[in-house]
Amino acid sequence: MRDFSFLESEISDWKKAGTYRPLTEIESEQGTKVEINGKKVIQLSSNNYLGLTTHPKLKEAAITAVKKYGAGTGSVRTIAGTFDMHEAFERDLAKFKHTEAALVFQSGFTANVGVLASILTENDVVISDELNHASIIDGIRLTKAKRRIYRHVDMEDLENALKETQSARVRFVVTDGVFSMDGDIAPLPQIVALCEKYNAIIMVDDAHASGVLGRNGRGTVDHFDLNGRVHIQVGTLSKAVGVLGGYVAGPKVLRDYLIHRARPFLFSTSHPPAVTAACQAALDVLQSEPERIEKLWANTRFFKSEMKKRGFDIGVSETPITPIIVGDDELTMKLSDRLLEEGIYAQGIAFPTVPTGKARVRTIVTADHSREELEFAINAFDICAKELGIKRD
Ligand code: PMP
Repeated sequence: MRDFSFLESEISDWKKAGTYRPLTEIESEQGTKVEINGKKVIQLSSNNYLGLTTHPKLKEAAITAVKKYGAGTGSVRTIAGTFDMHEAFERDLAKFKHTEAALVFQSGFTANVGVLASILTENDVVISDELNHASIIDGIRLTKAKRRIYRHVDMEDLENALKETQSARVRFVVTDGVFSMDGDIAPLPQIVALCEKYNAIIMVDDAHASGVLGRNGRGTVDHFDLNGRVHIQVGTLSKAVGVLGGYVAGPKVLRDYLIHRARPFLFSTSHPPAVTAACQAALDVLQSEPERIEKLWANTRFFKSEMKKRGFDIGVSETPITPIIVGDDELTMKLSDRLLEEGIYAQGIAFPTVPTGKARVRTIVTADHSREELEFAINAFDICAKELGIKRD
């Protein structure tokens, strides 16, 4: 048997640096409190923005779908795995997003990879924000297109990139709508104006804006009133929507193209009925319970202002993502561990997910958190951060 010492030595380096993290097991449903090691703690690390993971309508829809359609689909979409419910959901999703069509992928990750890798050729250029999500980076790596990375939300650099690349067949400008580690919103109106000026295609990854920004959570495009002016919207069904999956919303021709060429769509089995039915129910809840989004934002404002008052560095976030920036990797993990002892689950994030020196405990409050839970968490942050010398008073 070949030994794996070449991996072990790397892992032992991570252990020395304090960035080795065993997976945390959650022994309950994904609510505002979760059970970890037999103890109930407040969950501040999930992407369950609207509390939909445990919504009775989603659960009920999933159970009903399993009873009618079974547990799995037994095929990829293009062979025998397209059920009526998949198509119905995509039609409703397109209507919701104000686009001609939508196509669901197994995840947001594969949606990004599927679009970028299938469409772009060696005659094209992809222009991408330096802080875009890993799935965009990997999608770009799979293309033969030329790459031009622009400085984070730097419109001058983006314009230079567009000026430099006018001879390309197609230019794709790709940006996260909400940046996942810092929680800032892309300056979409300016990006759209530049893409219109230079005749480029714009693609927005709205993973952290789906269900969070825009009317009923339609995303950043709707938030900035840019419906009809963004060519490709990618989103996720795994975060605020509470289930699993990714989608591409855009022109019908794009959907047709992806069905025939996007490899993660072509070569991976379709979503089980429970997943699609729960997503469909979530789409209804987004429209029938808008108070969830209001509560999410009220909780966000409260949490951010209290953390700021207490002197924490919470970066530049404009959304429910609140990073508590510590800097040092090891200290960040210690803070996360101490918080867990105090009854708060808030995961530390270090390199390579964020740049070295920018390690943070990243929190996301949800619509379902009570004021008491948030106050308890804020106090715990205060106690643990003082103890570790991260903040003084
Ligand atoms: N894009 C961004 C910006 C994300 O934050 C994520 C989730 N980490 C994804 C895409 C991938 O989404 P999913 O979890 O549905 O694969």
